Amino acid sequence: MNNLLCDIPISPTEVDYKLAGRKSRPGGTVVQLDDVDIGGDQFTVMAGPCAVESYEQLLTTAEIVKSGGAKILRGGAFKPRSSPYAFQGLEEEGLKLLAEVRHQTGLPIVTEVMDTRQVDLVYRYTDIFQIGSRSMQNFPLLKEVAKTDKPVLFKRGLGATIDEYLQAAEYILQGNENVILCERGIRTFETSTRNTLDLNAIPMLKHLSHLPVIVDPSHGTGHPWMVAPMSRAAMAAGADGILVEVHHKPEEALCDGHQSLNPEEFFNMMHDLYLIGTAIGKEVISPNIVLQ
Ligand code: PEP
Ligand code: MN
Repeated sequence: MNNLLCDIPISPTEVDYKLAGRKSRPGGTVVQLDDVDIGGDQFTVMAGPCAVESYEQLLTTAEIVKSGGAKILRGGAFKPRSSPYAFQGLEEEGLKLLAEVRHQTGLPIVTEVMDTRQVDLVYRYTDIFQIGSRSMQNFPLLKEVAKTDKPVLFKRGLGATIDEYLQAAEYILQGNENVILCERGIRTFETSTRNTLDLNAIPMLKHLSHLPVIVDPSHGTGHPWMVAPMSRAAMAAGADGILVEVHHKPEEALCDGHQSLNPEEFFNMMHDLYLIGTAIGKEVISPNIVLQ
């Protein structure tokens, strides 16, 4: 969409998005999952390892993130790795471990589904489907999760415009209204960070759409020391939560340990988010959680 007279790109309008557009729900959408809300006054922290590696790793990390105030446990069982020689995830065994740790901790889980053929299987174990960045325009997959009744954490494609992203969200919304958007960084000329976390996307998505917006500063930066500052920025810019990689021993992680927070870094970040949340009216942790 270009304005030929002055060559300034015209931004998309909510008119283009029948189901995702803010006009259809001016007050914004809160995706509800038992006793966890995503959207509204809540700032929902989804945290855990990049990949499920073992029962011990998952349970230890889950207990850490829970005690810091995370409401949802993340962990990949099917991993979209750049190299076919890298750890691909524990697949169904990983899903079983996620379900077991949910049982132990009470934390609902979010895990990635990469392929239409995995939807039924992942449905049996997960609380929230994650559609990864590389799958944003896998339209058959979007149509398949649209047939289910579980929320979908829908990541922005690494090379996708906001317009392409919201158009793709429409595919899911045609059958399933529980879509949670997730900005996870886009490819730019910059190489000092893994991706360029597009903070502009937060107010833009909020402006154009009624859907909750989560930010993933782990993949958005690729550096653990940038995760806390970008999480604070995301909260201040109006995000409804974060998806963050935490590992009890990042140096031993099989996937993305280089960008994962250790327990102390996670607790410190949660403390800062609690303070900002208090100032701007977003609830990040229950007041009875004691940050260490
Ligand atoms: C992930 O969350 O572990 C992941 C693979 O993310 P993305 O799809 O954003 O690269
Ligand atoms: Mn990862």
